[in-house]
Amino acid sequence: MTPLKSHQHISIRGDKQTITEDFKPVHKRTRAGSNGKNIMCPRCGHIHRVNNFSWQELQCPKCTLWVTKYEWLVDQLDTWKTPR
Ligand SMILES: [Zn+2]
Repeated sequence: MTPLKSHQHISIRGDKQTITEDFKPVHKRTRAGSNGKNIMCPRCGHIHRVNNFSWQELQCPKCTLWVTKYEWLVDQLDTWKTPR
């Protein structure tokens, strides 16, 4: 079985498994919502969870690079993880 990275999503339809990930750069209208959002460091691919986007720059906890908001990549499929 293929190990899943934390930001990957798996969907199973019948006997077919599809691993998807979809990250897009933060844009002006990106909102974290009530559950927060996963963002990915553009340099090392580390996934970091944020509860808001009211910052301009954030340091990657893994590679310690300071990354400006619009260079982080946002998990577009994040809502899949928080079904209600
Ligand atoms: Zn990093």
